[in-house]
Amino acid sequence: MGTPTSSPSRMDISQPLLAWYEANRRELPWRSNPEPYRVWVSEIMLQQTRVETVIPYFERFLNRFPTPAALAEASEDEVLTLWSGLGYYRRARSLLEGAKAVVRDHEGVFPRSYEAALEIPGVGPYTAAAILSIAYGEPWPVLDGNVERVMTRILRLAENPRQVSTKKRLREIAGGWMPADKASSFNQAMMELGALICSPVSPDCPACPVREACAAAGQGDPENFPRLPPKRKTIAVELEAGIIRRGKRYLLERSESFDFLEGLWLFPLSLPGDGGIAARLGQALEADIETGEELKAIKHSITFRRLTLRPLLLETGSFTIRGKPSFRWALPEELGSVLPVSSLCLKIADRLS
Ligand code: SF4
Repeated sequence: MGTPTSSPSRMDISQPLLAWYEANRRELPWRSNPEPYRVWVSEIMLQQTRVETVIPYFERFLNRFPTPAALAEASEDEVLTLWSGLGYYRRARSLLEGAKAVVRDHEGVFPRSYEAALEIPGVGPYTAAAILSIAYGEPWPVLDGNVERVMTRILRLAENPRQVSTKKRLREIAGGWMPADKASSFNQAMMELGALICSPVSPDCPACPVREACAAAGQGDPENFPRLPPKRKTIAVELEAGIIRRGKRYLLERSESFDFLEGLWLFPLSLPGDGGIAARLGQALEADIETGEELKAIKHSITFRRLTLRPLLLETGSFTIRGKPSFRWALPEELGSVLPVSSLCLKIADRLS
């Protein structure tokens, strides 16, 4: 097996693919009215996140911020609150920065040129190509994980599709398959095929519109593609969460020490080895704090980190958080509705109820 010298023609791929897409595409909220801002928000939310998870977030976000101008006026806290639980919070911040740039430099309308799109914060080559093709019909091929999988299987490509030179070649081949006047449907059809039929494990080749042109299906070995380097090793992280209650409210802390949760409100956390959460909080709050009951541990994954979190109920002497802006009291119902929090914080709150 080696690098293919020729690839299927536009006719082999685009005709059956587009017909299949018309008949089988899912109705998704951003598809019903694919204007650039909606496509932009959906593409950012869909990074590393499943479609079913994104839909309610997308609808709430668009209700609250229906245009780039509305988003540009929001505070970071408002945006992070709507993003609470969706993860990868940097995406929310760069979307906000992006909206400000679109309002400032492009009169509130996402630009149509590729170069200008790349200038928008948070918009890289993939997102630019997706927005310009889906919303404006510009013939930019997109290459996300789904398309990568479909293409490496059709071509039975032995190379790593994430290598710059291979990526460039795949884009050229996809551009050759794409009918110039059907860029929007073609890109969405390739992504949809990867999502619905050409799955990572057990692709449904008999139901696939391009099986006749697919080299891996012909050889019966699609699961051998794509050839990706081994995934980054996961690391185990053990944390303690300190639960301090006053009346109906709980003490929260704005995270600064955990880069992956920066800026979000959390039950105070501590890495074992820091001396424990009771000692750390005792020092930060200038209070006597003792460890009480330990609740059942919570497992949670953030990118390559596998967290095991031990929630500890803490008993405290009197203290005040006046003059300590990284602390605040909050009702459980405020988490994710008024305050930006991560899904880890919501899991701890669930355990408490
Ligand atoms: S024939 Fe099978 S392996 Fe080839 S693109 Fe279709 S689903 Fe994927």
